[in-house]
Amino acid sequence: MSQATATMNQLSDRINQMQESATIKMSKMSRELKAQGHDVIDLSLGEPDFDTPQYIKDAAKLAIDKGYTKYTPVPGYPELRKAIVQKFKRDNNLDYTVEQIVVSTGAKQSIANVVLSLINPGDEVLLPAPYWVSYAAIAELAEGKCVEIPTTIDSNFKVTADLLEQYITPKTKLMIFSSPCNPTGSVFSHDELKAIAAVVKKHPNLFVLCDEIYEYINFTGQKHTSLAEFSEIKEQVITVNGFSKAFAMTGWRLGYIGAPLFIAKACDKMQGQFTSAPCSITQKAGEAALLGDMTPSFDMVKEFKKRRDLVYGLLKEIPGLKVNLPDGAFYFFFDVSSYFGKTFEGKALNTPEDISLYLLAEGKIALVSGESFGDKNCLRMSYATSEEKLVEACKRIKEGFSKLN
Ligand code: PMP
Ligand code: GLU
Repeated sequence: MSQATATMNQLSDRINQMQESATIKMSKMSRELKAQGHDVIDLSLGEPDFDTPQYIKDAAKLAIDKGYTKYTPVPGYPELRKAIVQKFKRDNNLDYTVEQIVVSTGAKQSIANVVLSLINPGDEVLLPAPYWVSYAAIAELAEGKCVEIPTTIDSNFKVTADLLEQYITPKTKLMIFSSPCNPTGSVFSHDELKAIAAVVKKHPNLFVLCDEIYEYINFTGQKHTSLAEFSEIKEQVITVNGFSKAFAMTGWRLGYIGAPLFIAKACDKMQGQFTSAPCSITQKAGEAALLGDMTPSFDMVKEFKKRRDLVYGLLKEIPGLKVNLPDGAFYFFFDVSSYFGKTFEGKALNTPEDISLYLLAEGKIALVSGESFGDKNCLRMSYATSEEKLVEACKRIKEGFSKLN
């Protein structure tokens, strides 16, 4: 028995069965290549390249000086939760009480808290695909059964109310989706969500986790719609949001939910055993972020839109790719299936993973393969980087594909 097998046998089935996060795996690989001296352009991780706005950093420094260095209440400081209540009212016209808000160490933990609080073994978790990688891993950790609802690029990867209805069974407990969507950049309109809400209303035992972490990165010109705005299903919806994307605060680790009270209480209990609470200093920074002048965030969004338009033009020029224009977030999710079966140095590339590994090795460009997002045809590109790098990246992708036979 190899050393690796022997140690795996000592680990729990739970961890052995868990997939490593594909986004994090790809960024690790590109970091390693960079450390070896290769000029890699890393478009794998969804992380704004901007720095956290100064007013937020100043609030954190002040928090340290004022002694916000102790354990905080488990669901977060009341003043931060109050700021979130105000944000929900201001931006989403949602009425939550402070008790319905739980602040966590990133939206990722918020999602884990909710899923672990709701899912029993065998409960079905609906994932309109493509979906963000960690939804499936977290649902499986809770021993839920993931049920993918496939969508295609031709419908901008959006699940319709009719399609959703076909997948609901008596065992369906939860649906998880994001709008604006990671990995596709799709944004659900008010009417599309209204139709989904009508289906949810018919199934009172169904909950929906609506991940709105890309709320502000929306280029439609239309106001963002939260699923919880449809008051007839508000008690079935958990709204997740966070600071990583809107305020370029990925490293600070702060996310939150607005939820039915019993779910908020369950998440509070859960994180009381897991993390006690998110970092006190980060919480004070988050409060300042929400209550301050959000001009820096809106400037970032303008920049993302410029980059999206640039990259769209460049990707469209690459023969064989099927590309749609994403309405939000900072990703392209393009179809590379016309290249399946082509070869490089005699080796066939049959999956998006094969192609992403080829592009990393040959073109030094890191993208994430669609498989872990529940899609077998696409690659995800994060365009949260400079225009200069994006132009070079698209050139490398084009060259990479042109070398295949
Ligand atoms: N949801 C989605 C859709 C994401 O893309 C991410 C990635 N950051 C998260 C949740 C988690 O965000 P964080 O934990 O950094 O708040
Ligand atoms: N959410 C980002 C992504 O999809 C960051 C990585 C992660 O949290 O998995 O790339």
